[in-house]
Amino acid sequence: MSQQVCENRLDVELISMTPEPERVIEQAGRTCYLSFDRMEADSHEGFIRRLIKMGHESPLEHAYATFRIRNCSRAMTHQLVRHRLMSVSQQSQRYVAEDGFAYVVPESVPAEWVDDFHADMRGIQQMYRKWRDRGLRKEDARFVLPNACTSEIVVSANFREWRHIFKLRTSTKAQWEIRQVCRTMLAMLTEKAPVCFDDLVEPVS
Ligand SMILES: Cc1cc2nc3c(=O)[nH]c(=O)nc-3n(C[C@H](O)[C@H](O)[C@H](O)COP(=O)(O)OP(=O)(O)OC[C@H]3O[C@@H](n4cnc5c(N)ncnc54)[C@H](O)[C@@H]3O)c2cc1C
Repeated sequence: MSQQVCENRLDVELISMTPEPERVIEQAGRTCYLSFDRMEADSHEGFIRRLIKMGHESPLEHAYATFRIRNCSRAMTHQLVRHRLMSVSQQSQRYVAEDGFAYVVPESVPAEWVDDFHADMRGIQQMYRKWRDRGLRKEDARFVLPNACTSEIVVSANFREWRHIFKLRTSTKAQWEIRQVCRTMLAMLTEKAPVCFDDLVEPVS
């Protein structure tokens, strides 16, 4: 019997970022005006804010960030990978067995029905095992798996694309899990490169 594992512990890690991203963006942007003589220790702030304000955002494409996201659902990753300017490497259900898969329980499941949700997941784990035992390859046995299944994914994008993703996905119109992931990534990048991202952070009321 496969062991049931349930983890609702979203884990977002910033694994890599362009060193001194704001400096790189300023250097790239100032190439447009050949205004390198105006570069000072703190000149990037006003310069980058002006670029963003006027919509001249291509210099932000020179800085990159890469995140590893664990314990999120495939429902979330399916939405995230729609962003075509983002590079993606994701845990494969063709090569990694999903016996005893972990899964995300939406917070909207009422407390009195959580046990029922777990029971459904155990049922699907048994279904998956049954088809594996009958000889189906992982790539076909996975057809019975749910969107709740957790996944691991590494995503990279430039700062302009991250700004685009955050605008769409931190909105209250976005689905709760991708909103949670994107708000976490936005907070991490705002800490590292505030001038590039702090205008997207909602003020705490
Ligand atoms: C609230 C919400 C609900 C959604 N609901 C659905 C849904 O029901 N069904 C569904 O299928 N999707 C849905 N989506 C996904 C949405 O349609 C986009 O696929 C997703 O948000 C990726 O955004 P994007 O295309 O702007 O960005 P990216 O793919 O990240 O591209 C960035 C930008 O590059 C430009 N670009 C990229 N590729 C092209 C291209 N081929 N041609 C022209 N310009 C391009 C565009 O300006 C684009 O905004 C939803 C998204 C949100 C935020």
